[in-house]
Amino acid sequence: MAADPQCVFCKIVAGQIPSVKVAESDVAYAFMDIGPIATGHTLVIPKEHYVGVEDVPAEVAAGVFELAARVAPALVQAVGAEGMNILQNHGRCAGQVVMHMHVHLIPRRAGDGLQRPWPAGQADPAELKRIAEKVASTLSK
Ligand code: 5GP
Ligand code: ZN
Repeated sequence: MAADPQCVFCKIVAGQIPSVKVAESDVAYAFMDIGPIATGHTLVIPKEHYVGVEDVPAEVAAGVFELAARVAPALVQAVGAEGMNILQNHGRCAGQVVMHMHVHLIPRRAGDGLQRPWPAGQADPAELKRIAEKVASTLSK
């Protein structure tokens, strides 16, 4: 199994660093975050080392989200939450600290005081179209 010996999450998968396991599948592992943003904050990771979403083979990505979707309702129930933010920080500029792709499951309840870290902007329709066309053109190459 592909692992990075320097990677903290690879060490967790290998059992070299302790973690509180929530669930696992053939390709994915879910465990409690050591620095929870909210009670029950859980991480879901591929068992193999991949840095970003684009590095994760489609079948592994599907396995990660299969496990995340299976854990999410049980987690909501376990901590008495009402919903959840499911997020993935991609790249250091976006707050990715651990360079092993992971999905955050952050249980939420109304009035819990957590705020979105960014304000919504105002869309410029021409710009939206321009960006979408550029992305589509890159994808078609
Ligand atoms: P990122 O900022 O990279 O999206 O999130 C990394 C997450 O990993 C953080 O929420 C942090 O608390 C968690 N984390 C970092 N090191 C460890 C560790 O050794 N054990 C566990 N359980 N979580 C960790
Ligand atoms: Zn790793």
